[in-house]
Amino acid sequence: MRRIYLTIFYYFTNLPYLIKKQVNNLDILAFGAHPDDVELSCGGTLLKLAEQGYSTAIIDLTRAELSTQGNPEQRRQEAETAGRILKVALRENLMFPDGGIVNNEENRLRVIETIRKHKPQIVLAPFNQDRHPDHEHTSQLVRECCFYAGLEKIQTRSEPHRPHTVLYYFQHWVEQPVFIVDISDTFETKMEAVRAYKSQFIRTEKNTKETFINRPEFLQSIKNRAEYFGYQAGVRYGEAFRVRLPIKLDNLMDIFA
Ligand SMILES: [Zn+2]
Repeated sequence: MRRIYLTIFYYFTNLPYLIKKQVNNLDILAFGAHPDDVELSCGGTLLKLAEQGYSTAIIDLTRAELSTQGNPEQRRQEAETAGRILKVALRENLMFPDGGIVNNEENRLRVIETIRKHKPQIVLAPFNQDRHPDHEHTSQLVRECCFYAGLEKIQTRSEPHRPHTVLYYFQHWVEQPVFIVDISDTFETKMEAVRAYKSQFIRTEKNTKETFINRPEFLQSIKNRAEYFGYQAGVRYGEAFRVRLPIKLDNLMDIFA
């Protein structure tokens, strides 16, 4: 019941939007289970797209209220700061319960409406195998909703819209990438966005408890991974992705020459 009241409150006060610039249709919409997921796994790509002139957005499904450190209000402020660093046009939180991202009709309709409302061409979602169950559930939920959002007979407030493509980013576990984005120019700023989550990744006098992600080794591993994928692609830093559907190419020379 509390969640229903909270949802109504946030809906009418427009608080789910942490960032909201005026754009008609978004080019790229990145979904994450928790604020900071997108920054860690595909923040360099999102920033690169924004700097190339595309409109980008982040949709966080939860407020990460189960995190060992920090609280939802801190996370909210950190997410807003990080989103601005990544130059997203919009950042919204759907306020699903952390640890309880369920693929049910209510949640599907909310994700479908979010996709229809913003009309992205490309959706970024977590890869479907990961250490954290919320990441796996988000992957499945977003993948299904990208399809259902195109079906006319599923009715929500907005018109049907199906994104062209869903691309999957890696979180805790990685597999063989299908393609790697060169983020050499945006890597340092991506890490600035990650470090905006002080409650998660930085140990301070107030924040003394050691967690898996606030040890220096964790942020170092993010850098190591970017270097590893960069090495595979022949550049300094990279972010890796998978796709489920075959990629259509008109000109092999554009991609492989
Ligand atoms: Zn997460």
